[in-house]
Amino acid sequence: MSSFAYVSSELGNVKPETRSIAEELYNVAKAAGREIWFMWGIGTSAEHKTGLALDLMVRNEAAGDFVRNYIWANRERLRLRHVIWEQHITSTVVQPGVRRKMADRGDPTDNHYDHNHVWFFRGSYRPPPSPTPKPPISTPKPPVTKPTVKQRTLYWNKTTMLSGNDVLALQKGLRRVFPLYAGRLVLDGKFGRATDKAVREFQRRAGLKVNGRVGPATRAALRRYGVRL
Ligand SMILES: [Zn+2]
Repeated sequence: MSSFAYVSSELGNVKPETRSIAEELYNVAKAAGREIWFMWGIGTSAEHKTGLALDLMVRNEAAGDFVRNYIWANRERLRLRHVIWEQHITSTVVQPGVRRKMADRGDPTDNHYDHNHVWFFRGSYRPPPSPTPKPPISTPKPPVTKPTVKQRTLYWNKTTMLSGNDVLALQKGLRRVFPLYAGRLVLDGKFGRATDKAVREFQRRAGLKVNGRVGPATRAALRRYGVRL
């Protein structure tokens, strides 16, 4: 089977979209086992002068039928004006879709028995829709990450006392794990003076910055002792 480079070697200065369509037609015909063995583009006829017409040469009727039917099926995307095959013209403009018999011009080429003649409207090339992409063979699993919930920093706020289940969990954890200095914490869920004192003691013993604030670093250190807020 001839290469597209050879088959398209005489297209001349056709419009870019015409060349792209020519390549598409060559490829789909080839994939279907139907060969377009040569193409003509720029020529002396009124239609071929526009750079928007192609003659798609085939060696048998099956290949010609395939090319004609593919072009017609894709007429909107390809901006088809008309296609001529086997002495019949099918237009998208004049009696759209009707295969109209043409006058006998004499030989098989003039009567389009050895090629489809197609003429397009101007417009940028639109490639056929790509097939649905196949999933990759192995999908790497995303790393297991816990949902990140923004956790508030707990501290002794002397104007508006922080309270809640997170404070309660902190108090319970400190009391359970560090009975030596937190064993008497009142489990009231309110971050007051006593809780502040216990947190500071924990931070001091854990080698953390002693500021009484339970932020990410102190939480991480507490987690190492099994205290989760
Ligand atoms: Zn022609």
